[in-house]
Amino acid sequence: MFSWMKQSILKPLLVIMLLAAVFPVLGAEQRLSLTNAEQKWLASVDVIRLCSDPDWMPYEAIGEAGQHTGIMSDFHELWSQMMDKPVKLEPTVSWEQALQFMQENKCDVLSSAQDVPSRRHYLSVTRPFINYPFAVATQPGQQFIINLLPLMDKSFAMVKGYAAVELIRAQYPDIRLMLVDSAKVGLKLVEKGRVYGFIDTVPSINYQTLKHGISHIKISGVLEQHYAMSVGVRHDLPQLLSIYNKAIAETHEEERQRILNNWLSLEFDYKVDMTLVWQVLAVLALLTSLFLYHYFTVRRANRELQQANRQLEHVSQRDHLTGMPNRLFLQQAFEAELQRYQRYGHSFSLLMMDIDHFKRINDAFGHVVGDEILKTMANLLLENVRGIDIAGRWGGEEFLILCPETDLQGAWNLAEQLRKLIGQTEFGLDNMNITASFGVTDFRDDEMIEDCIKRADQALYRAKHSGRDQTISY
Ligand code: GH3
Ligand code: MG
Ligand code: MG
Repeated sequence: MFSWMKQSILKPLLVIMLLAAVFPVLGAEQRLSLTNAEQKWLASVDVIRLCSDPDWMPYEAIGEAGQHTGIMSDFHELWSQMMDKPVKLEPTVSWEQALQFMQENKCDVLSSAQDVPSRRHYLSVTRPFINYPFAVATQPGQQFIINLLPLMDKSFAMVKGYAAVELIRAQYPDIRLMLVDSAKVGLKLVEKGRVYGFIDTVPSINYQTLKHGISHIKISGVLEQHYAMSVGVRHDLPQLLSIYNKAIAETHEEERQRILNNWLSLEFDYKVDMTLVWQVLAVLALLTSLFLYHYFTVRRANRELQQANRQLEHVSQRDHLTGMPNRLFLQQAFEAELQRYQRYGHSFSLLMMDIDHFKRINDAFGHVVGDEILKTMANLLLENVRGIDIAGRWGGEEFLILCPETDLQGAWNLAEQLRKLIGQTEFGLDNMNITASFGVTDFRDDEMIEDCIKRADQALYRAKHSGRDQTISY
């Protein structure tokens, strides 16, 4: 009970103490030390209105939902927390429009700006917080560039309205520049060979080539000129300028690096690759499941087909009335036995049997009873032939029995045995016995199956003509 109380009270207490210890420190770090005038100015506004470049990744862009994203967005988010004042993005469709908005007092702050003479009448800038050298992107295989002077006969693309244009023009008055709407357009012109190079910073060139899949591009050189990025503040708001300068000054280097790494690391590259990996995996999974589906469907269909074939084969080889082997089966068995006979030279005989006066049975008792007699006869034969013998219905009331490994005498003995058994069997017909006649023969060298059957038939014919109910061998 006590230990439970101790735990339940101590835990929240510990959390509260920890928070109390951490928060003042965080607050002190994040809160800026502002002058009275600065504090007064901040208190006079609800939000700071921010204008930005809508298409300048990885530095910044305006997302589809109208949100600010990129390096500048992270910095301004951080500074907004340090000032304890919300920053509201005023969406623009182009960088030129952002500059326009600043001149029309629709914005208080430009997310990132460089100090160039043409802007000084409406814009003040803070100390720089990012500084990147300009780089030149060309097609692969061009000479290394550290200075543009030897390349004044070539043309270069740059993004319209960027301070970089002014800086580069100031350094190279004779440069032939083609001003384009975005880095993507500039890089595409280089890729197609329409201009010699595109001038921007390395992060921007890398990001755009990766994002838009622009190949055949390489950074051929880095120039002496730097792109020093500052926050641009309306020149009639000196308090806000000094607030931003303080925020920039108090931004920890670790925090700055964290933001830059977040956008400049291989993350972007990695994300693209992962998308591709997932797409490839999804396609593979789809193909595998299609293959497996196809494989199992075909396998099942094959099995069903095999089974159906087996059934069909069985059915085609069975007599539909008695279920015993039919003429087709007997013929195939005969051929198989013949091969054995030819290979091993063992004797091989056959019996042809015909029920005597079967027509009379049909006439006296009807066909249904006749059928029953045929079934009973079939069973009698199947049960009383030897294991190696093959008995089947040859047609009508005629039966054929193949006797492998059996000579003529052996076959005659079997026929007699069966004949006597039939004579003694009660078939359920009033006062009427059923008898059968047998013709027996053995297979001889160099003859055809038909010859052997014909001989058995002739022996049977003789048995009939000699009074029936007897066995004749040929
Ligand atoms: P024999 O002693 O000379 O053989 O005389 P038989 O009457 O047996 O011979 P016949 O060839 O004159 O007649 C055979 C009869 O067998 C005629 C036919 O209707 C009958 N039969 C043949 N197949 C079937 C059958 O599947 N069912 C029935 N019930 N009768 C059959
Ligand atoms: Mg007959
Ligand atoms: Mg008959």
